[in-house]
Amino acid sequence: MGEKTEEPRIGVYVCHCGTNIGGVVNVPEVVEFASKLPNVVVAREHLYMCSDPGQEIIKKDIRDGLVNRVVVASCTHRTHEPIFRECVASAGLNKYLYEQANIRDQCSWAHPSTPEKATEKAKLLVASAVAKARYLEPLEEKEVEVIDRALVIGGGIAGINAALDLANMGFKVYLVEKNPSIGGRMAQLDKTFPTNDCSACILAPKMVEVANNPNIELLTYSEVQEVSGYIGNFKVKVKKKATYVDWEKCTGCRICTQECPVRVPNEFNCGLDTRGAIYIQFDQAVPARAVVDKEHCIGCKKCMKVCPAGAVDIEKNNEEIVELEIGTIIVATGFDPFDPRKMPNLNYDDPDVLTALEFERLMCASGPTKGHIERPSDGKKPKVISWVQCVGSRDRDHNPYCSRVCCMYAVKQTWLIKEKYPDIDIYVHYIDMRTPGKDFEEYYAQAREKGVKFIRGKVGEIERKGDKLLVKAEDVDLGEPIIVEADMVVLSVGLEPSAGTQELARLLTIGCGATGWLTENHPKLRPVDTNTDGVYIAGCAQGPKDIPDSVAQGKAAAAAAAIPLSTGKIKVEPIVAEVIEEFCGGCRTCEEVCPYGAPQIVEKDGKYKSEINPVLCKGCGACVASCPAGAIVQHGFKDEQIRAQVQALTSEYEG
Ligand code: FAD
Ligand code: SF4
Ligand code: SF4
Ligand code: SF4
Repeated sequence: MGEKTEEPRIGVYVCHCGTNIGGVVNVPEVVEFASKLPNVVVAREHLYMCSDPGQEIIKKDIRDGLVNRVVVASCTHRTHEPIFRECVASAGLNKYLYEQANIRDQCSWAHPSTPEKATEKAKLLVASAVAKARYLEPLEEKEVEVIDRALVIGGGIAGINAALDLANMGFKVYLVEKNPSIGGRMAQLDKTFPTNDCSACILAPKMVEVANNPNIELLTYSEVQEVSGYIGNFKVKVKKKATYVDWEKCTGCRICTQECPVRVPNEFNCGLDTRGAIYIQFDQAVPARAVVDKEHCIGCKKCMKVCPAGAVDIEKNNEEIVELEIGTIIVATGFDPFDPRKMPNLNYDDPDVLTALEFERLMCASGPTKGHIERPSDGKKPKVISWVQCVGSRDRDHNPYCSRVCCMYAVKQTWLIKEKYPDIDIYVHYIDMRTPGKDFEEYYAQAREKGVKFIRGKVGEIERKGDKLLVKAEDVDLGEPIIVEADMVVLSVGLEPSAGTQELARLLTIGCGATGWLTENHPKLRPVDTNTDGVYIAGCAQGPKDIPDSVAQGKAAAAAAAIPLSTGKIKVEPIVAEVIEEFCGGCRTCEEVCPYGAPQIVEKDGKYKSEINPVLCKGCGACVASCPAGAIVQHGFKDEQIRAQVQALTSEYEG
């Protein structure tokens, strides 16, 4: 890697970025300054350097043999470095003989009111990039083979769509779901906004399609335990949890579930009814197979006696670890609803105060009350129901973000109740109603026309008084506090990352933001990629969103994950760390500090030496900075390159 090349002839290209840079920084002055820097043979400017004519200027200078190093002074490396590297490469220059100065985000945008100082700073940034460019070396990209199999983690609507698209492209897909059935939260919903179509009617056929697709291997009631390797070559250990039922024999007849004497809260119906210790997760479950909940099983063996297929053996722990070799991974682990117990003022412990997800189950024909709206406390039909918006969302004490779907699902629920029970009085207490989306505002208007009363103002407290729940709120429009005497209250709880998201992120070395949602590589340009190549995210795992957006992201992630699978080979960036063997003392510091597990200590001629796997290395530089022997170099950020940059910035630079 990186043999020394001929004397540097640097071309500097300064971009106006429309008025983004040119409106603050005096670009001609920066060009004039750059033209006098050591080894600079040409300095030019353009209104949009990344445009076709802008790039053509750079290419021409390379093709004419005028320059053999390129510095572009423009915007951020994150979005534009790959573009300019490709530009340089297409003109025949090694793409790592390129350096960039960010004079927009780090200069004109940061100092809009002091143009003279901004211009001076832009000159320093350009001088620093030029100083580094003098020491750039050509680097070669490595190619690795890609195993043409994908793993999708999470079988909600986002994961289902991702798995189906990949499978339909001809790739083998493993779909890992922690619950006994796929379907995710959508399986718990009654109808869906903004079309009010039945959730199960659109979800169930997709679930069956997954089960019938010969390219998809379903691993439900399973969890990812270990991940190693890198894009194209991941090794994944999946634990198939013990079901105590032979799923090859089980036909899903449900006889066992009826005979089991145990009754425990049924999670699928949010604890509003019960299930046995042997159960099938829900009516349309895929696969429709029974599992024994060993924690609650009393060992009576009734299920074993009644099962016509002889499928149950409560003494046979059939837990299994499966090892998979995978090319790319999609994470679609969804969300959990906010737990309103964290807000005691909302009195969630009262049986008639429900979360919106519990209310979905109550509305659903397959739910615990067969779709009849009854108060859990006494089974009576409520006359007044209040909805409380933003529970746990837009709240600095809990989650600062907007959960995006709660306004719309509250509009949906109130609309459906008004349609079915026009005599029930409905109040929605909101801070702001947020309805951006196709047909959403019209949907909200129709709910208002049906007689749902929307009251702007926060709810402070919900108090039980005899048969009633007193909803104490403000009415901002009236400018006074109000009390609604309700028979039932629905809390529009926000969305949080599903339990275990952080642990999974750690296994996959991908990031979680401050609020716990998985982080995309770039919010606009790489919304389903992560900072680990070959790992993609989709649906609510990335942040709160509705079904159409979750499906769109599932499909986008499938398309992104399919690129390496279909090309069969991928190129790996050579900006990685490398150990100079003779200096390494084998102290293992690099092994400990590397977040990607790239360094490994190996025995060489009786001595322990570190070796860095260039495919795993992300070039973060942690090992380089930590090595006590100074035995690690980072290509693209070598000491002499960084030193020259720092000297240029601190005016010690003498060229
Ligand atoms: P999920 O549905 O959460 O699925 C994630 C899946 O991943 C689950 O099956 C989970 O068990 C699994 N999983 C989690 N962690 C792991 C792990 N570590 N390993 C393996 N598997 C794992 N949207 C609409 O568009 N219209 C509506 O009417 C609507 N109504 C709603 C009503 C309520 C009350 C709520 C709370 C939400 C509503 N939504 C609605 C939003 C909708 O539920 C989501 O958009 C959708 O469920 C997101 O799908 P997903 O696949 O990203 O996540
Ligand atoms: Fe039916 Fe047996 Fe399966 Fe239970 S375990 S659903 S009884 S086949
Ligand atoms: Fe239920 Fe366990 Fe008895 Fe089977 S053995 S019926 S699962 S309690
Ligand atoms: Fe070798 Fe340096 Fe790693 Fe220690 S930190 S093992 S000396 S490369």
